[in-house]
Amino acid sequence: MSLIVNDLIEDYVRKKLNNKDSYFDYMEEYAYKHKVPIVQKEVAKFLDMITRIQKPSKILEIGTAIGYSGSIFAKANPETILHTIEIKEDSFKIAEENFKKQGIDNVVQYLGDASQVLNEIKCKFDLIFIDASKGHYQDFFEKSLLLLEEGGIIISDNILYKGMIASDEFVVRRKITIVKRMRSFIDYITTDDRFETSILPFGDGMAITKIK
Ligand code: SAM
Repeated sequence: MSLIVNDLIEDYVRKKLNNKDSYFDYMEEYAYKHKVPIVQKEVAKFLDMITRIQKPSKILEIGTAIGYSGSIFAKANPETILHTIEIKEDSFKIAEENFKKQGIDNVVQYLGDASQVLNEIKCKFDLIFIDASKGHYQDFFEKSLLLLEEGGIIISDNILYKGMIASDEFVVRRKITIVKRMRSFIDYITTDDRFETSILPFGDGMAITKIK
């Protein structure tokens, strides 16, 4: 059961969002079978739409996993160059293979901890997508600010984390530290005068931040 969106609505919307490209079916099945967390279908479609509308020349993704959301970005606008960071070597390799099998060549992959890799990247991005370890969002975000083109946006995924962020009632004990950090991150992006932030309560919760 989702605590963010009514299950009935979520199921209805997902059924309407059939993939036109069967490779996404394959990656969704793979992720389900191997318990790899990837963005939900409605989030994938949203990222596809943002890319089609904004036509970013460069996107930075933090958290590649098997390259599912990366493939969404890369295919939505073939002119876009996607840079994507992954800490796990096996995921990095699976993503590399998935990009290759789809003929995607507008991708630069980094293997390493984003907290470190972000300090080393030299170019700037129009869109930065944060979708990695939830306890480190503020660090990823602050480092991303230095890599953002003027007018660019930062999208942070999973910010409502299964309802746990909004209410203690849903918090699982072993997630307390992550919940505290995510709440503090949300306070930061919604109250800092430098930013405009919108919180979208769909998928697992998403924030879009623009620098004023
Ligand atoms: N964006 C992917 C998608 O929707 O297809 C899903 C990403 S998954 C939720 C998060 C990924 O971030 C995992 O593959 C994990 O190994 C990676 N990760 C976690 N911490 C990281 C870090 N500090 N630096 C880079 N990658 C990290």
